[in-house]
Amino acid sequence: MESYDLVIIGSGPGGTAAANKSVRMGLKTAIVENREFGGTCLNRGCIPTKSLLHSVKHYEAIKTSADIGITVTGLEFDFPRIHQRKNAVVEKLRNGLTQSIKRDKIKVYQGTGTITGPHNIRIKESNEEIRAENILIATGSEPSLPPIPGIDLPNVMNSDGFLSREDSLLSNVAIIGGGVIGVEFATILNALGSQVTILEAMNRLLPTMDKDIAQNLTMQFKKRGIVIHTGAMVEKIQKENSLTYTFEKNGQKETGTAAGIIVAIGRKAHTTSLFADNIPIAMERGFIIVDENCRTNIKSIYAIGDVTKGSIQLAHYASSMGIIAVEKIAGHPSSVNLGVVPGCVYTAPEIATVGMTAAEAKAKGYAVKTGKSLMSANGKSVVEEEDRGFIKLVFDTESDRLLGAQMMCARATDMIAEMATAISHSLTAKELAAIIRPHPTFCEAVTEAVENAMVRQSIV
Ligand code: FAD
Repeated sequence: MESYDLVIIGSGPGGTAAANKSVRMGLKTAIVENREFGGTCLNRGCIPTKSLLHSVKHYEAIKTSADIGITVTGLEFDFPRIHQRKNAVVEKLRNGLTQSIKRDKIKVYQGTGTITGPHNIRIKESNEEIRAENILIATGSEPSLPPIPGIDLPNVMNSDGFLSREDSLLSNVAIIGGGVIGVEFATILNALGSQVTILEAMNRLLPTMDKDIAQNLTMQFKKRGIVIHTGAMVEKIQKENSLTYTFEKNGQKETGTAAGIIVAIGRKAHTTSLFADNIPIAMERGFIIVDENCRTNIKSIYAIGDVTKGSIQLAHYASSMGIIAVEKIAGHPSSVNLGVVPGCVYTAPEIATVGMTAAEAKAKGYAVKTGKSLMSANGKSVVEEEDRGFIKLVFDTESDRLLGAQMMCARATDMIAEMATAISHSLTAKELAAIIRPHPTFCEAVTEAVENAMVRQSIV
């Protein structure tokens, strides 16, 4: 029986980051994967979505290019071609990943891994048995469908269905869920001319993010013709000529019709066929429970990423957990700070947050001062017609330390890294103000937000 120091089940961002770290730490490593390399992120998540968003961003820019002196006539988009380009991007990145796994001499088992003992894995399809000193579960998640009558009707789809629907654009779409995936899909469909309705059960879009961001996004979406129902619980879907959905809002029943419905309301842990009957792994609501080193209740078995309880379901969070687990297995201290996790939404403009909102900081007992800068006063934003949005920074009045940042502007998803660094290193407003940021750039607005915070008193 082949034996390894570490066998990783799942090749998403968590599993591949762990594998990469593992070989660098000198461990004999194998990966078991039952679908394509790269997991949800590369094949059915981050990358295909951002590729579609890239196409529509160009389409939108060309539509308004007369404003900057460029006239284009006969503008059209080619929907299947947009998807072909998305598929080419995915394939290119997947090939790169496959090459790097080969280069690192990581053994790959194509098939479904079932854990049959603390050190044993069986590959379901080939019945092959392998031994591992340590096992790392990185099996991720899959879309979860709520028990709404009619959820299985044709043209009711989850995120996988939306991303692989390549032949024609739906003219009228209802999206159940106004979280990150829902608002990104709404951005794509709206830009291509579909009539979009968002049905969100909570009282605002992006309910886990700062209120200002949600309000601003709602305003911009409405301006673009997207219909938003918050506090809306979808109760049933029926097939008539098109799809009819019924939802309850403020105690009233309302209905709407759509050619297609996208369900974007959460994901469940992927543990199908993962454990033989005799493996007493501790789980909660299907998610695997791990400690701060990503170790499960069975000493030789670790778990990371979307499959774990309490995971922030983000690719970079899964990768960071992978590094922590491997460092523990190799006997090294942990090098990653899991406490500071940027979150990004690729709407137009982009949204990015890290750390606490002012409301969260106040709830934790901090005396808070905030500094805000509007992108309408930022030179680069005006030049590039990106002058909607803002940057908001939250500081602890007492220590002057940065506690959180909320950005809604062009390049927010890149600029948030500076804020994550600042929070990780407990930088103060004074220290952030001392940094020279180049001109003209979007990040000059960070300097302005810091300066605005410095002149403000506590707003407890
Ligand atoms: P996954 O990526 O889910 O990979 C798990 C892998 O394990 C899969 O390939 C699966 O087939 C395999 N597997 C499962 N069980 C077995 C088994 N028993 N044997 C062998 N193989 C198995 N995150 C971001 O950070 N940024 C984004 O912009 C972003 N956009 C997203 C957009 C969409 C539409 C979706 C759906 C998700 C998005 N995410 C984004 C979330 C991100 O994709 C996930 O958080 C991330 O992929 C989780 O990584 P993972 O390694 O835990 O698992």
